[in-house]
Amino acid sequence: MNAPLMDPRDVAVLAIGDELLAGKHADLNMPLIANRLAEHGRRLVESRVLLDEIDLIAAAVREVAQRCPLIVVTGGLGPTPDDLTRHALAAAANVEVVHDDEAWRQVRTWYERSNRPMPESNRRQALMPAGATVLANPAGTAPGFRMRVGGATVISLPGPPREASATWDASVVPWLRAHPVDGQRASAFLFFEGLSESVFATEAAEWLDRAQNPQAGVTVSEGVLALRLVAEHEDADRARALLDARLDDFRRRFADHLFSETFLDPAEALGVHLIANRISVTLAESCTGGLVVAALTSVPGISAVLRESFVTYHADAKVELLGVDPATIQEHTVYSEEVVRAMAVGAAARTGARLAIAVSGVAGPASDSPEHPVGQVWFGFCLDGEVTAHERRWPSGAHRDRIRRWATQHALASALRLVRG
Ligand code: ATP
Ligand code: MG
Repeated sequence: MNAPLMDPRDVAVLAIGDELLAGKHADLNMPLIANRLAEHGRRLVESRVLLDEIDLIAAAVREVAQRCPLIVVTGGLGPTPDDLTRHALAAAANVEVVHDDEAWRQVRTWYERSNRPMPESNRRQALMPAGATVLANPAGTAPGFRMRVGGATVISLPGPPREASATWDASVVPWLRAHPVDGQRASAFLFFEGLSESVFATEAAEWLDRAQNPQAGVTVSEGVLALRLVAEHEDADRARALLDARLDDFRRRFADHLFSETFLDPAEALGVHLIANRISVTLAESCTGGLVVAALTSVPGISAVLRESFVTYHADAKVELLGVDPATIQEHTVYSEEVVRAMAVGAAARTGARLAIAVSGVAGPASDSPEHPVGQVWFGFCLDGEVTAHERRWPSGAHRDRIRRWATQHALASALRLVRG
């Protein structure tokens, strides 16, 4: 047919279900699939929603199969007579619907595992278009399947998004990996902290150009800039080499901001590193009010290295709990290099932790002194007795919550850079 004109990357998604067109709810499977196609070098070019009607579905599939080499159909695989997708796809391919032993085994296994009696109507879920390959559904009863219609591969997934997603991961991803469409791809992430998207876009402009190989994708959230690089080449080693060279470019240029190549979350990156290297940690927080330790305690297993932490909000608490000299506070104010250093030293001394992280700054909305504008935050670190400190200034107009959140992420990412050396 038109096969030579097809772009091998093109994919269409057809969502089946009367309820989707009755305005009950939106098609949630399309975004889910669209998100996951890119990593396989494929792209969604069309999305349709169709009623549970055999002729309608069969005609749409035949028609789309003329221009898309891969069609993903979701829904209509349930046990009730209004679930007609398997019959419609069989009609599109001009084949019979037959009982499939493997599908039947999967349906029964699911009921045995969930310890529930199986209704007789479930036999229907073992029906497949003749010649189709069953796709295991780890999250429900209805197995999906894969078949050919004309020049296209059609993948039929169960409708509930949880089941579509589970079937995709378990049964579609391996197939996509085995059928690469555009040579070899190598990809990696870099995670930066304290880098605005616009600064990054300017300083990395030549590498962010759409025509570049590797292609770069940037997303920013919670003070973390995530960069994804995808290199393509017919030859897998060349793809890897292209990727590695560009990774080095970014690592060098943004060394001061890079905190992880594995974890998007600075707390997780730091926590995992501290646990793995048995580095005990404590905190002395002022303006972040415990946000830093809260983030660290979200990391499973952190109790191996974290025993206790200080929230010393008032100046008196810095003196009483951390042993900061009142004269130091008098002379330099609590928003100062001297005070965060003393806070870190005090926290380390009082707990015996190898690493102490101290934070003190002006979260706003108002500041009590012109020398200390809203957004100014000092960070102090004491690592095995070695004390360092630095200051950050975030925009004075930023909301209090954002400043506290940025300061939290920065404290975690800076501590990680420090312990890595
Ligand atoms: P089941 O075995 O659960 O019946 P199925 O493949 O037959 O699976 P459907 O009967 O089409 O799926 O849909 C079951 C339910 O899943 C729907 O009532 C709806 O809530 C949800 N669902 C189906 N398709 C979609 C979709 N595209 N987006 C969001 N929800 C969906
Ligand atoms: Mg349905």
